[in-house]
Amino acid sequence: MTAMRFLSTRRKTQAVGLVRAIHDGLAPDGGLYIPESFPRFTPACFDRHESMADIGVHLLTPFFEGSELESALPKICNHAFAFPIPLRACPDPQVKILELFHGPTAAFKDVGARFLASCLEYAKQPGDTPLTVLVATSGDTGGAVAGAFVDYPSTQVAILYPAGMVSARQEHQLCCWPPHIRSFKVGGNFDDCQRMVKEAFADPSITQKLRLTSANSISIARLLPQMVYYAASSLQYWRETGGTANYIIPAGNLGNSLACIWARHMGLPIGHIALATNANPVLSTYFQTGVWQPGQTTATLASAMDVGNPSNAERLFDLLPAANRSDFRLSASRVKDSQIRDSIADAWQRLQLELCPHTATAWQVRRWMDQDQPDRDWILVATAHPAKFEQIVEPLLGHSVAIPPAFSSLLQRPVAWLEIKPTLESFRKALLEESV
Ligand SMILES: *Cc1c(COP(=O)(O)O)cnc(C)c1O
Repeated sequence: MTAMRFLSTRRKTQAVGLVRAIHDGLAPDGGLYIPESFPRFTPACFDRHESMADIGVHLLTPFFEGSELESALPKICNHAFAFPIPLRACPDPQVKILELFHGPTAAFKDVGARFLASCLEYAKQPGDTPLTVLVATSGDTGGAVAGAFVDYPSTQVAILYPAGMVSARQEHQLCCWPPHIRSFKVGGNFDDCQRMVKEAFADPSITQKLRLTSANSISIARLLPQMVYYAASSLQYWRETGGTANYIIPAGNLGNSLACIWARHMGLPIGHIALATNANPVLSTYFQTGVWQPGQTTATLASAMDVGNPSNAERLFDLLPAANRSDFRLSASRVKDSQIRDSIADAWQRLQLELCPHTATAWQVRRWMDQDQPDRDWILVATAHPAKFEQIVEPLLGHSVAIPPAFSSLLQRPVAWLEIKPTLESFRKALLEESV
């Protein structure tokens, strides 16, 4: 078996092995890494595989075989899937809910972040300079990445987040970690944070001292494990009904939904995939008209999906030639803030479901689908726990939302951050002076 290689979507750099693709994050030509070929499965391939971690090892072995990480894959999967990802029934008999929010920071990004952290840990060679992971965040990603590295104290993590633009609970979750995970509160916006990370990678006075890697959402090591919960839940549905599972997925940068599209491509029993977006129109316009028109980002109640130019789009276009868009079994619908509010209230009043604003976009799409496709069953993907967005959710429900235990113990830890200016110079100083 020759090891899987990973190509850039732009095809202007050489194919690389798995570990290199993980360390690089972005390919050197600016493209995104994709596997040079996809393994194919049938549902029967998983007959003897039940648990999430076990399905993960089986599904991901073709990507790991022959790489330095091959023998570590079972341990990596155990770390990433250490919490339950249940497919729950709901009072609407045509709907099941895939709950992705039982991880340490109560959102689906925990899965990818923990898988990535584990891959980086097991890829270490004796004598390597310690790694420093840089991550710019508008809220959710940074917490997930921090939580993922708690168990790996020899790796430094630096989180940059925009001052005054994250909620109180989000800020807490960014700043409550042991000393190898440091949080920098940047006097600027999210774009400044992203720019500072990019500039740090290009600054020799930093890169000569620190071995940098990034943990943003385009990392192949975050995408691969996300396929696992689509495989497991579609297999469960297949075993129960003999049919293919249709999904409604809240989408922003397309990382979570692309994993579902890849899983279907590999032969998992998945039917229609409906993307639910907030008011940002790029995806719904594309699926309705074929025109790809990235634009400015609009701020919405589903803030983790505030994306004007989804970074995983190159991977989508690489898989689906634009000519036969209607055959994709894919759609996208846009849900405005007023509809998100209405959907949160409706799900509670009719079904006693407490939804976060992101998951509420999926419930709204389900309500529209009920008119267009009344016979279809749907799996709704719940991307975050509502307690993370209590300021939006609680007034609409009329009661307070119980905080899950893991998240609540995190909210009791002390916090620390360092305020810095939105310049490379202040970031460099903070990063180098305090790093061990
Ligand atoms: C990141 C995030 C999303 C969007 O996922 P993408 O992979 O960017 O499409 C949706 N909901 C929540 C809660 C998130 O944190």
